[in-house]
Amino acid sequence: MSQQTALITGAANGIGWATAQAFAAAGYRIVIADIRPEDADSKARLLGPGHIGVGCDVSDEAEVRRTIGGLDRLDVLVNNAGIASPLLPTANQDLETFQRVLHIHLSGTFLMSREAFRLLSAQGGAIVNISSIAGSAGLPRRNAYGAAKAGIASMTRSMAGEWAGSGVRVNAVAPGYVETALLKTLIDNGSIDGLKMRRRIPMGRLAKPEEIASAILFLCSPAASYITGVTLTVDGGLVAFGGAPGDAYEGD
Ligand code: NAD
Repeated sequence: MSQQTALITGAANGIGWATAQAFAAAGYRIVIADIRPEDADSKARLLGPGHIGVGCDVSDEAEVRRTIGGLDRLDVLVNNAGIASPLLPTANQDLETFQRVLHIHLSGTFLMSREAFRLLSAQGGAIVNISSIAGSAGLPRRNAYGAAKAGIASMTRSMAGEWAGSGVRVNAVAPGYVETALLKTLIDNGSIDGLKMRRRIPMGRLAKPEEIASAILFLCSPAASYITGVTLTVDGGLVAFGGAPGDAYEGD
């Protein structure tokens, strides 16, 4: 029988890369699908022989078809690719930026899932979509990103109900603040106040990408065999925290 295969989008960096390493360590053959083909290829090589790196923009229907069409087996799909939306007051937000954020997160998750379903259902499989605490909390100046991440949580429930009978479980992970290049840039350029952010996290620190990866791995494992349609928050207690109203959310 061919090796269990996990396709992870946006896996050349950050959470996706940590997830690729976690699934490779668990014995999966990894397909890294990232908009940066050279990075996808070099990271696949780092994982070792048999792993594949493919250049793919998840919001491009033809590229998604080509990427999935090249596979003969799929057990896991992780829809992780995403971009941070610029911090913009709603009154100043332009339609093009708003639509781009929605398109990459929502169309990307939809297209990848639609195309992967046939292979996943052949032997049973799991999808994990990456939402965010921004999908349930109202983050000022990030309304496109929040709407996209809320949409991903909704699509997760919809696909889970539709595909449960076909042996495909669909769940989401909603990370809080994760130590990745994406977040570091926002802190370094002053878009997010790192100190204020930590004050809102009961565990007092950011998540490591590996801590998000292990939640994703769990949701795809036999230990989660009766779990479908949930969005698992992994945020060090941030959303549960009922702290002072003055400590407003800022950032991702
Ligand atoms: P990152 O910028 O470190 O990595 C994102 C990867 O996605 C990059 O390799 C990039 O090349 C790729 N990518 C971007 N657009 C793409 C596209 N159209 N098609 C294919 N690949 C594309 O980001 P990260 O922090 O690891 O974030 C990963 C996911 O986690 C995103 O969906 C993000 O919204 C979500 N998230 C991140 C945080 C955080 O604090 N870092 C918190 C909550 C949710």
